Amino acid sequence: LIQLYIPLNFLGVLYREVKQSLTDLDKMFTLLSREREVADAPGAAPLQVAGAAVRFEDVHFAYDPARPILQGLSFEIPAGKTVAVVGASGAGKSTLARLLYRFYDVSTEGGGRITVDGQDIRTVTQDSLRRHIGIVPQDTVLFNDTIAYNIAYGRTGASREEVEAAARAAHIHDFIVAQPKGYDTLVGERGLKLSGGEKQRVAIARTLLKNPPILIFDEATSALDSANERAIQSELASASAGKTTLVIAHRLSTVAEAHEILVMEAGQVVERGSHQDLLAMGGRYARMWALQHAGQGAGAAGAQETASH
Ligand code: ATP
Repeated sequence: LIQLYIPLNFLGVLYREVKQSLTDLDKMFTLLSREREVADAPGAAPLQVAGAAVRFEDVHFAYDPARPILQGLSFEIPAGKTVAVVGASGAGKSTLARLLYRFYDVSTEGGGRITVDGQDIRTVTQDSLRRHIGIVPQDTVLFNDTIAYNIAYGRTGASREEVEAAARAAHIHDFIVAQPKGYDTLVGERGLKLSGGEKQRVAIARTLLKNPPILIFDEATSALDSANERAIQSELASASAGKTTLVIAHRLSTVAEAHEILVMEAGQVVERGSHQDLLAMGGRYARMWALQHAGQGAGAAGAQETASH
């Protein structure tokens, strides 16, 4: 029996890992084929994190060699600061997140590298890199399990008290305890259906529990109502306090406080600076901002439209 149990248990773990990666992190990503390409370098050491400063240095990247996406991109997220990336759909924003999490490696032909506290992420173990990064994805797909399980996934072995504290901080606790079975309520396809905003709060709670020094927040493209959007923003602000944060923003309202904003177009940064700098520049960002404000009467969908086009 024991002999049978071990492989089955192993398969269960493997299945969960595969499922997590496929659903949460990147739907287009096939874990097994990617893992063969992005492997630990021989003798890779664990990432040593002090403040968790992130640097993209002259980064080149193409999914398909015939179609370069990033051609010499450089920027820095100082330890504990937030950098926001905005730009049209397809500009390459999510690609930055995928490269930082090392789903893909920077192209070797173009040179360039991504570092965390000075260490090239290709030289450290993937496991240690990913332990230090939390991702709040655009669209969180929940497991068909209890809400407590879905939050605790951020850190295996977390106690119920820790799960509740994270849920409180993500402002989802009151919603959970209002359900007939509280934290034991089943969610997902076969359980309670959560709204986009509620799912994103579960993802924030999961990330708070993991408590990584680096955070990637891929803002939902789907329009939330404006009350929900403001609430998510304030939860994000508390989740990212003191963390090195990369925000991929589809609505400009999220980015005004960022240390630096990068405006991307076809893989290039076409404008960069603080919100005030960019408004004063009177360029693309300023036009997007003006359009977004003019379009506010049209609601969140109108605002999103202006930010992404
Ligand atoms: P959005 O705002 O729509 O999420 P984005 O700025 O995040 O867009 P990316 O997802 O980074 O854009 O995509 C940049 C470019 O790379 C796009 O032209 C896209 O079609 C292409 N691309 C993205 N993923 C892949 C992939 N797995 N294989 C091939 N091309 C891809």
